[in-house]
Amino acid sequence: MAGKRLKGRVLSVASEAVPLIKTGGLADVAGALPAALTAEGWQVRTLLPAYPGLAGRLAGGKIVWRSDDLFGGPARVLAGKVEEGDFLLIEAPHLYDRPGGPYAGGGRDHPDNPERFAALSWVAAEIARGQGLDGWRADVLHAHDWQAGLAPSYLKMASARVRSVMGIHNIAFQGIVPADRLARLRLRAEDFHQGYLEYWGNISTLKAGLIAADAIVTVSPSYAEEIMRPEFGMGLEGVIAFRGRAVQGILNGVDAAIWDPAADPHILPFSAARPEAKAANRARLLAEFGLDAVTGPLAVIVSRMTHQKGIDLLADATPGFVAAGGGLAVLGSGDPWLEEKMQGLAARHAGKVAVRIGYDEALSHRMFAGADAVLVPSRFEPCGLTQMYGLLYGAIPVVAATGGLNDTVIHASPAALAVGAATGITFHPVDSLALSQALRRLVQLHADREVWAAMQGRGMRSDLGWAAAARAYSRLYDGLLAQ
Ligand code: ADP
Repeated sequence: MAGKRLKGRVLSVASEAVPLIKTGGLADVAGALPAALTAEGWQVRTLLPAYPGLAGRLAGGKIVWRSDDLFGGPARVLAGKVEEGDFLLIEAPHLYDRPGGPYAGGGRDHPDNPERFAALSWVAAEIARGQGLDGWRADVLHAHDWQAGLAPSYLKMASARVRSVMGIHNIAFQGIVPADRLARLRLRAEDFHQGYLEYWGNISTLKAGLIAADAIVTVSPSYAEEIMRPEFGMGLEGVIAFRGRAVQGILNGVDAAIWDPAADPHILPFSAARPEAKAANRARLLAEFGLDAVTGPLAVIVSRMTHQKGIDLLADATPGFVAAGGGLAVLGSGDPWLEEKMQGLAARHAGKVAVRIGYDEALSHRMFAGADAVLVPSRFEPCGLTQMYGLLYGAIPVVAATGGLNDTVIHASPAALAVGAATGITFHPVDSLALSQALRRLVQLHADREVWAAMQGRGMRSDLGWAAAARAYSRLYDGLLAQ
């Protein structure tokens, strides 16, 4: 509720956040959580690097911090508004003003990523502990992923009385840095040991955050349990288990300002109460992708193309699906081998499978609006957002039973259908046989118009907003401040 008593100040630190810069789900979360926390009574500022073009989008930019030497060059922090959000942008041309994306350019990682994101973490600690020119200080520093992983350590080194939270959006990305960069990252030699910064002979900035932070949050309850096990912990399971009592899972929400089929400028609007335009969106999507031979359910995938996402399993699962009338439209970019594999699949099934390589936000909206189903066959998935967009847009999710996918989709078992609870299809293990069976089930369910419409309606009416997550984060911060 607006106007609530101020509970405290939060500095949220991330390498990407909507609406300024996005490569994946982290940006959706870092962009949406602040507004939800504001409604809970927290004042939140979001700190990001000023990648090219970002500072120009800041309204009322005011210099609140400066340095002659931020990891090798001058830097300053600008504070201002972007839409409703309070942003702080680090202008440091030697680190952030270059072509390419936030992490890579010309097909390879920026070689100075350790310094670039250590700088983000360093400035975060400075601002959080009140070193800014406007005297603002944070009660809680919330560091997202390895890029912000050193911020809790820098706070500790300064003996700052700021509570810290380490957020894990994907434990596969661990911020591994060669040990000889220790001093350059302004870290102390005595902290380089197995119980803290050291990770198999290197530095891991994520591990540093997991040890130094007061609390650890990951983006779904299932993933919080999974990462205590070797199959999912990716080498950090011991650290997670060691910090067990400080770890919790809080399911991400969906930003209703961006993902609402009744008010989405990219599509013909529809809703659970007025679903008619869903069919017209579907017809447009089929035409846009040249899918003229689809007689059954139209499934979509919107995803980074990496091994994690299990998209390669479609090579074996698709022939049976399209033979049964199904269609598949894919949007994504990533690993070249996977892009080629998917393009090959489309070539073999013209009129039934189509692939667009690239990143296209508007097209992704049209795809969820036009789809009958959204596929997420991930080998692991901390939370996952596209299955939730599917639910809200009347596209039945077909998902691997893992992580946040498991926490957001209720499988259409006979029992769940009988009590009117089912919202999608889950499958396990994550292999092409189980995916094939899930797609066969999809075709069956699609043919039963009554059951299908009931499932669609349930998904579209589900409450997937940020309010529940914001309450959980608010309780966590409250608990930290009471310590
Ligand atoms: P991850 O963060 O692992 O990439 P998530 O499902 O949590 O996976 O979030 C992915 C986000 O990125 C979603 O908002 C999804 O719609 C978006 N996305 C992924 N690939 C594309 C693409 N090629 N074009 C448009 N949006 C994409």
